[in-house]
Amino acid sequence: MTTLTDTRPTAGITLTEPFIERYLEVYKHLHANPELSAQEFRTAEYIEEHLNALGIESFRCGKTGVVGILRNGDGPVIGFRADTDGLPISEQTGLDYASQATGTLPDGTTVPVMHGCGHDTHVAASLALAALLKASLQLWSGTLVLIFQPGEETAYGAKAMIDDGLWDRAPKPEVVLAQHVMPLAEGKLLIRSGHMASLADSWKITVVGRQSHGSQPEKSIDPIVAAAAMVLRLQTIVSRELAPSTPAVVTVGTFHAGLKENIIPESAEFTVNVRTPDEETRAVVLAAIRRIVSAEAAASRAPEPLIEELNNFPRCYNDPEATARVATAFAADFGSEALVEAPLGMGSEDAGWLSDAIGVPGVFWGFGAFEPNLFEDGASPSGNHSPFFAPEARLAVVGGTRAALSGVLAYLGRN
Ligand SMILES: [Zn+2]
Ligand SMILES: [Zn+2]
Repeated sequence: MTTLTDTRPTAGITLTEPFIERYLEVYKHLHANPELSAQEFRTAEYIEEHLNALGIESFRCGKTGVVGILRNGDGPVIGFRADTDGLPISEQTGLDYASQATGTLPDGTTVPVMHGCGHDTHVAASLALAALLKASLQLWSGTLVLIFQPGEETAYGAKAMIDDGLWDRAPKPEVVLAQHVMPLAEGKLLIRSGHMASLADSWKITVVGRQSHGSQPEKSIDPIVAAAAMVLRLQTIVSRELAPSTPAVVTVGTFHAGLKENIIPESAEFTVNVRTPDEETRAVVLAAIRRIVSAEAAASRAPEPLIEELNNFPRCYNDPEATARVATAFAADFGSEALVEAPLGMGSEDAGWLSDAIGVPGVFWGFGAFEPNLFEDGASPSGNHSPFFAPEARLAVVGGTRAALSGVLAYLGRN
């Protein structure tokens, strides 16, 4: 028995000190060079060069996605996904390999970019996994499809790869695995059977009224009053239409209207972000939003508001049988005390599309990469999406690689 981040063998495969040093360099390079969602051009080239140097065939998919295929005779075909994008965040970690990169958002704004969700750890661990399996062909058999997926943060990339023929061009897997670094102590693995993350939907709602002078409200249809009523009434969906035991979130994150206090504007717009645990609840909440927005508009004599769907994250469902198989491998390799039962989080993930698109099971787990003393006395380190998010590099590389090895070899290992 070994713990997740020590260097004893995992399923017969050892991470040597020079190997760890090599992939620490890879990780730090990726960390210092993040790119925004759907713009991961240099990252894709870096991954392609690395796979090429390892002698692993690859192809570009979904513009900035890369698929590596490692074939080793007969046996199961397994997909393993690493997401590759950074976030528009100004890194404040003070690390000597901190990012100073900038990028350009689709609206033309220049922003700082940081691997603030730790996707750099996923890429480094996947490349290390590929190198280890390539060097240990006698210990496993089958085919590993390495999916380096762009644009996770915008729910763009998994869909883009599927639309670009991912599963026509790569061997079809029997299961798709994925992992994510979490604000957890090193050695911990977070997993649960069933829904692992929430479904999410973001909409922009434009309420159209009638403009007038602020002193003549009778000539107006005030879109601000109508939109304000909508925002308040939307809060009753979770509190009045769902059972108290059903977790869901309806957040209005932006609200814009008007330019001057004495002009009633033509329109008002707001964005709403919805988190739901399953398809049934999603349908109830989205229908309620449409109903409330429409009825409040009618109550204000306003025309039907415009609803634009901005993005949608699918379910991230951990197939019970496949999850049990992976968890059993984790317990065998790292001890059952390494496993943490995940609560249903309200975070979101688009990895589910990769498996759901071809009707095969998926398994998604989290791994820790922080010093345990950061969790003493109820404290915790800054989490994903924080400008201070800083997994410990060695723990991230070793932990991520060993968790990946254990999960993948649960299917491809020779028992
Ligand atoms: Zn994220
Ligand atoms: Zn992430």
